[in-house]
Amino acid sequence: MPKIIVAIDGFSSCGKSTTAKLVARQLNYPYIDTGAMYRAVTLYFIQNHIALTNPKETGQALADVHISFRRHPELGRNDTYLNGLNVEDEIRKMYVSEKVSDVSAIAEVRHALVAQQQRMGKTKGIVMDGRDIGTVVFPQAELKIFMTADPMIRAQRRQLELMEKGELVGLAEIAENLKMRDHIDTTRSESPLRQADDAVYIDNSLMTLDEQVELVVRLADEQIGLSFRREMNKA
Ligand code: C5P
Repeated sequence: MPKIIVAIDGFSSCGKSTTAKLVARQLNYPYIDTGAMYRAVTLYFIQNHIALTNPKETGQALADVHISFRRHPELGRNDTYLNGLNVEDEIRKMYVSEKVSDVSAIAEVRHALVAQQQRMGKTKGIVMDGRDIGTVVFPQAELKIFMTADPMIRAQRRQLELMEKGELVGLAEIAENLKMRDHIDTTRSESPLRQADDAVYIDNSLMTLDEQVELVVRLADEQIGLSFRREMNKA
């Protein structure tokens, strides 16, 4: 069967990554969490005291940032590595969330990460989630999803996620962080978060995870079928 690109974009903490991971498993495609890549760069900038307002400094620092994903042998999840170190847990912490949208708005950061993401999807057969996947990284993706959910539901989901990792954060602080990130992500000049014209809009506030996954897999299957028929017609 032909391989397609599934691009899932949307606001922070609306269940994109959880859905994308399960969709990838069902399609037997690798899953790339591009938010993790922006978080890893942010962690590096924090650890190395990089001034975000100095393009020369950020540009030089970027040359020293190497991000990769490796499968965790016991947990079966795809962990994020920064310069050879597993940073999967560290990049999810609040102090990284507080800075990540500012780092993601830097043009040099975006150019470097978008180029790496495009290389990862060169042979298709990939599920990628983020903010600009359907608009900038893979504007030719066969399936584009734009996901959202009610802001309070998103804050509650994020709180639960942090709690499961042992970080207790109040709902108000989380809601404020999500609001701030939404604002920066949608108003930045470099590839702002927006719905691609041909994306399928999914508000999952009242949907179960199973329903979301089923819907996206069904849409992906339709696109795989279409690609198959197109290839057959060409042959
Ligand atoms: O997906 P997640 O919430 O982990 O992403 C963290 C941050 O990374 C987002 O708030 C956004 O600022 C940035 N991001 C981005 N472009 C992407 C993925 C994430 O700007 N493709």
